[in-house]
Amino acid sequence: MTPPGVVLETEVRPMTTTRYDVVVVGGGVLGTAVAERLARTSASVCLLEAEGDVGEHASKGNAGVAVSYYGGPGTLETDLINASNPFWEELCERLDVPYRRIGGLMVALSEREAERLEHTRAEAAACGVRVRILGAGEVRVAEPLVTPDAVAGLSLPDEGIIDPMRLTAAFASLAAVNGAVIRLRERVEAIEHEDDGTSTVITGAGRYRARFVVNAAGVGAGAVSRMAGGEPLVTWPRKGQYVVVDRAFAGALRQIVFCTHLPDTKGINVVPTTHGSALLGPTATDITDPDDRATDAETIARVLAEAARLVPAVAEAYAIKTFAANRPAGDEPYRLRVDAHVPNLVHVTDRSAGVSISPAAAQYTLDLLQAAGLDAVERPDAQTALPRVPRLRTAPEPERLTEVDPLYGQVVCACEHVSAAEIEAALSAPVPATSIDGVRKRTGAGYGRCQGSLCLAGISFLTAMATGCGPDTVRHTVRGTVGS
Ligand SMILES: Cc1cc2nc3c(=O)[nH]c(=O)nc-3n(C[C@H](O)[C@H](O)[C@H](O)COP(=O)(O)OP(=O)(O)OC[C@H]3O[C@@H](n4cnc5c(N)ncnc54)[C@H](O)[C@@H]3O)c2cc1C
Repeated sequence: MTPPGVVLETEVRPMTTTRYDVVVVGGGVLGTAVAERLARTSASVCLLEAEGDVGEHASKGNAGVAVSYYGGPGTLETDLINASNPFWEELCERLDVPYRRIGGLMVALSEREAERLEHTRAEAAACGVRVRILGAGEVRVAEPLVTPDAVAGLSLPDEGIIDPMRLTAAFASLAAVNGAVIRLRERVEAIEHEDDGTSTVITGAGRYRARFVVNAAGVGAGAVSRMAGGEPLVTWPRKGQYVVVDRAFAGALRQIVFCTHLPDTKGINVVPTTHGSALLGPTATDITDPDDRATDAETIARVLAEAARLVPAVAEAYAIKTFAANRPAGDEPYRLRVDAHVPNLVHVTDRSAGVSISPAAAQYTLDLLQAAGLDAVERPDAQTALPRVPRLRTAPEPERLTEVDPLYGQVVCACEHVSAAEIEAALSAPVPATSIDGVRKRTGAGYGRCQGSLCLAGISFLTAMATGCGPDTVRHTVRGTVGS
């Protein structure tokens, strides 16, 4: 059941002003994590998201690596990675999000890269990360699919893979369960400051008076800061293109295979996903249009070639999809602080490791807000977990799930083994799927080799039923492409 605070469609209603302690702008992984953390306190919170679902931008199209190491020691980002990394198993258990600590292997293909690995080892160790140099023989034992040309490797056993879309949806759902108001399809268009130190956040559908505003608008954070008269924060999209390869290949992969980080690039990697597929990529190209998510043949050919240098068994024949997503790049790689000019505006952005820092970033944001005067005490009655939805593909005894719900007997997506029960759960979650793509994000239905050729009609039918649409008006994406 959708909690009363979740508003999926913008209502036509008089422009009355609603008051909250905190208004969060942006429903990506960082905005939803912040809303979830705040909702467990006495503070009232409203999240405003421009799109019709949470997790529609960077938080949808990333590699889903919950990193143990990303950059040098002594930075806030490193501190937040370190504060998040040990707790992924516990958090994902509570939020019903797939996560596996499978480890990562950085591979050197030349003596020059091997020297660079030593630099990375020292840097990671200085960050407090478990890390070990491997000789050429050890590399192939650790990951037999790695090229015999590897001259050395670096083992990072605390790298993990997570489903970033399920994580974002789960943060949003738990926030809603605990009373946060989640308003979708509400793009913030203006922010006005009042004499009493509060601000009015204005969308096309409403006015929200807030003691504090959290700017978690990703690539839109620059515009939000401008609206509020805040720091001249410059943001732009940095496109990353990926190839998805199916489990016929990915099933044999034991861990994440990274290329050697060079000073100017983190390069193309081979990353298993929690769905059983693997991602090859990403590239990094600065662009101007945040909605440009096109892939191009030349770049995809390069991604395949560079991935095959690391793992020669990767072949185009395994490719089932290409996609692109845009990192929220900015004049600073991450920004988590109170604005320099506007004392009730807090920026929460991260270009490249937003998933990996999200739990600790949420706590850090609460700390910032409290230090700035937010009155927020822990609520003893707050829920800390979401109900677990058993998954046909991963259940130890899938044939017994029909005893839980007969709909487990109706397999809708044959490639990914997704049942009607799981789709129904996604369509009735606290922040539910309202489109075919929303179902896909929450269940993986349509992610497999056939890419929905076989299951689209079934997903479409169930989505239409749940959203009160017909087959010609059911939403394919939240942007409103209709029809199945
Ligand atoms: C190719 C690629 C690979 C990556 N790999 C990893 C990885 O492996 N591990 C990792 O930790 N991180 C990774 N990242 C980075 C990670 O995805 C980002 O750091 C993270 O998703 C940022 O989250 P966010 O919530 O700040 O931004 P977003 O997810 O972009 O969310 C911002 C939200 O704000 C909304 N918004 C914008 N303007 C407004 C407005 N005016 N009003 C209302 N709403 C607004 C947008 O609609 C959007 O939903 C990767 C990113 C990319 C693109």
